[in-house]
Amino acid sequence: MPELPEVETTLRGIAPHTLNRKLSRVLIRQPSLRWPIPSELPGLIEGQTLRNINRRGKYLLFEFATGKALVHLGMSGSLRIVPTDTPPNTHDHFDWIFGDIALRYHDPRRFGCLLWIDGEPNKHKLLAKLGPEPLTDEFNADYLFLRSRKRTQAVKQFIMDSHIVVGVGNIYANESLFMSRIKPIRKAGTLTRKNCEDLVRDIKFVLARSIEQGGTTLRDFVGGDGKPGYFKQQLLVYGRGGEPCTECGKGLKEVRMTDRTTVYCVNCQT
Ligand SMILES: [Zn+2]
Repeated sequence: MPELPEVETTLRGIAPHTLNRKLSRVLIRQPSLRWPIPSELPGLIEGQTLRNINRRGKYLLFEFATGKALVHLGMSGSLRIVPTDTPPNTHDHFDWIFGDIALRYHDPRRFGCLLWIDGEPNKHKLLAKLGPEPLTDEFNADYLFLRSRKRTQAVKQFIMDSHIVVGVGNIYANESLFMSRIKPIRKAGTLTRKNCEDLVRDIKFVLARSIEQGGTTLRDFVGGDGKPGYFKQQLLVYGRGGEPCTECGKGLKEVRMTDRTTVYCVNCQT
């Protein structure tokens, strides 16, 4: 599933090819995504210049003079740059044509979306209740400590809740909790101030590192053939259930929490 680092990498990959260019044509092959692509959308952006691209959580916002187009990659979506004459594959649902190149959306499971926002994006129902961006100063130890008070849910679910902070996917939650030596099943309300400092620092670290590594795959977004560059990462716990802990050597424990794979060290994480 595309996570925040992949979405950020996508933004950085497509921006140089599309920003400040005129969108000459919108080609929709399959409008039935998670929600239908609004039928008026092509008319609102064709002939317009793409002024800016921003990311909010895992949403991409494409800014035109007429309003903003909102794209989410869902479970299996990707955006890439291809020469306009590249034949589409089965799951290539829309193209935005900028002269000789096309921004092409591919999504086999069709859980992504392309919607139109004509007002203030932060008031849109999909964005209004999102928590702060993890890589901004707004996400800090004071904030996390305050929000966690009296919470009985597991700390792993707490940090994966997009109302608390956006973009902490399952892999990043597992990894940052290990680095902070916090047991994922612990109640969020038991986090100490020091725990919150560690956790905020480690969440920022794993996300920033992933975005940095994503930079090496940017070429994948400009090739006509390649799959999107979802990068392999150096993982300390995720996918390593039963294998030795990198700190103490004991076998890592793997459990399911709300249907998500959760791996931790019973010795190092408390
Ligand atoms: Zn350990």
